[in-house]
Formats: sequence, structure tokens, C-alpha cells
Amino acid sequence: MKAIVVHQCGGPEQLHYQEATTPVAGPGQARVKISHAGVNFIDIYFRMGLYKADLPMIVGMEASGIVESVGEGVTEVAVGDRVAYAGPRGSYAEYAVVPAWQLVKVPAGVSDSLAAAAMLQGMTAHYLTHSTFPLQQGHTCLVHAAAGGAGQCIVQMAKRRGARIIATVGTPAKAELAREAGADEVILYDEVDFAAETRRLTEGKGVDVVYDSVGASTFLKSLDSLRPRGMMVTFGNASGPVPAVEPLLLNAKGSLFLTRPTLAHHIATREELLWRAGDVLSWIANGDLKLSIHHTYPLSDARQAQEDLAARKTTGKLLLAV
Ligand code: NDP
Repeated sequence: MKAIVVHQCGGPEQLHYQEATTPVAGPGQARVKISHAGVNFIDIYFRMGLYKADLPMIVGMEASGIVESVGEGVTEVAVGDRVAYAGPRGSYAEYAVVPAWQLVKVPAGVSDSLAAAAMLQGMTAHYLTHSTFPLQQGHTCLVHAAAGGAGQCIVQMAKRRGARIIATVGTPAKAELAREAGADEVILYDEVDFAAETRRLTEGKGVDVVYDSVGASTFLKSLDSLRPRGMMVTFGNASGPVPAVEPLLLNAKGSLFLTRPTLAHHIATREELLWRAGDVLSWIANGDLKLSIHHTYPLSDARQAQEDLAARKTTGKLLLAV
């Protein structure tokens, strides 16, 4: 099969479109013939070596497709099922072998491309807004990179839960997208001090929660944007990883809560996976959640897709058509 393989961690030039061995489903596993693979920032962290994996590796952690074969003991899916998943690595490829319990059947009314686009960023937005800090009416949240793939999903789900949303973005065009997704206020954080502006927009109080996927460049000012006893959710490193933090800093900034969550721990059981994926896919099917696909690249252009994502050139979701 064709796949995108990394033999050595480094820049985008380390993504090689080449022949690879077609995997075989073992007990409890299913082989998926991939239709679309999602491109996510985490794929860049693995390629760079910021997140560790054994080499060589096939990149990519999200896809949709058809179950082509199943191993012994599989009960969750059957050959011919249209499925999607997020988590197991190896999706930038024609085939992937995935633990069957991690596959979700895609409902009629959700296309293969939307299913691939929904799983990782959609379920991330779901756990952030429903579990990490369950938003309610009366809450105000600050969402960074709000026109991005994860960002647009967070804004829509925060809106659905009745929260007031202050969003940050890099350009005026992205500000428009954040507003369309439901942001009440939008700050151009490359031009304006977002902590001062957030204080102004909240009459000096600060927000209840910050969802911060940008990392190094926003972390400290995100703390300054919170109300006393507010929650700092640092869930990504788009500008680089956040350096070590002294617990006393959280005291000085207002008895803050700090968490660094990841999706895997929020879809660790089949029950929780089906809850989150079920919500996300049904909201897409009934039009309550809108995913904007920035661009669909051929599998062979995975390098270009990652370069565009890392260069802040994109909004919404990037896909690879396999
Ligand atoms: P995005 O589509 O959000 O792209 C990243 C965006 O981050 C850019 O478009 C840009 O928006 C902003 N950004 C700010 N500074 C930089 C920088 N120096 N370099 C690159 N981008 C920058 O990507 P994803 O939706 O795939 O992921 C968003 C983030 O969420 C990532 O950090 C990812 O790791 C994290 N994530 C975490 C998960 C978890 O469970 N912990 C799961 C899923 C995603 P702008 O121009 O508006 O600033």
C-alpha cells in the first residue's frame, strides 16, 4: 500500500510518500480501507519528535473508511461498515489496522470527509466544553486560535452550552470565521494585548476558563485573563511547548486551576467514545455543528498539508483524500 512514512524525526521533508506493508488485522482488530485521513497539529508534533514514537512510523491519527476485514473476536463492527476513528496512529495510508472498540459507525447523512474531519477535533471540543470545564449559561470562556479546526468546534459547542465566548485569532479574515462560529467578541492577538482586552471585556473580572491550544506564546497572558479560581486549560503547543511552571504562580494569579488534558484519556472506554462521537456525528448530521474543510489534499501531498497548517495559513479542517 502507499503511505506517508517518517524514518527520522525532523522537518516536513521527513514525510515520505512510499510503499509500506499492508497491515493485517489481529485479534480484536479491524482493517480499514481509508477514504479520508484528518490532518492534525499532533501529527506535526510526532513528526518533529516533540511527542515520541518508535520509528519508522506512519503518521496520522484520524480517518474514515470501510471495514475490509476483522480479526478474531471482533463484535463492534463488521466487514462493509462505514467507520471513523481518532487515536491509533497510521492513518496517512491506504489501510490501517485499528482496535475494533475504537471504531465508530458513521451515520447516514454524514459524508466520509466530514466523518474524518469530525473525530479528533470534534471530540476534543466535546471533552473540553462538557468535561474539563463543563460550560453553562453565565460562564465566559476565552478560546485561542478560534478559526482553527479545534477552535471552530470549541466555539460552536461553547455557544450551544450558552456561554459567552471571547475568541482570539491571527487575522481579520479569521475573525470573521470565529464570529460566524458563534464568538461574541474577537481579539486579534498579534496586534492587541489579549489579557488587557479580555479584562476590559469582562469589566475587570476575567474569564471563567481559557482553552489555550497555542501554548508557549499565550500561556502567561492566558493566566492573566482568568478570574480568581478560574481554570487554565492548556491543551496544545502550536507555538511551542509551555515551559515548567511554579505552583506558586497559580497562587499569585488568583488560586487558579491548571490542567493539561489530552483526548486519549477522554475516550478511553467504548462507552465514553460512543457518547462523544455520537454527539458530534449527530450534531453534524442535523446541522447543529458545521465543519469547514479548508482543503482536501491528495495523500501524496501530506507534506504540503502539514506545511500549510504549521504556517498559520489554514482555517478549519485539512484532509487527505486516499
Ligand atoms: P489549527 O487549525 O488550530 O491550527 C493551529 C492554529 O494555531 C493556527 O492556524 C494559528 O491560528 C494558531 N497559532 C498561533 N501561533 C502559532 C504558531 N506559532 N504556529 C502555528 N500556529 C499558531 O490546528 P488544530 O485544530 O489541528 O490544533 C489546534 C491545537 O489544538 C494544537 O495545538 C493541537 O495540538 C491542539 N489539540 C489538542 C488536543 C488535545 O486533546 N490535547 C486534541 C486536538 C488538538 P491564528 O493564526 O488564528 O493564531
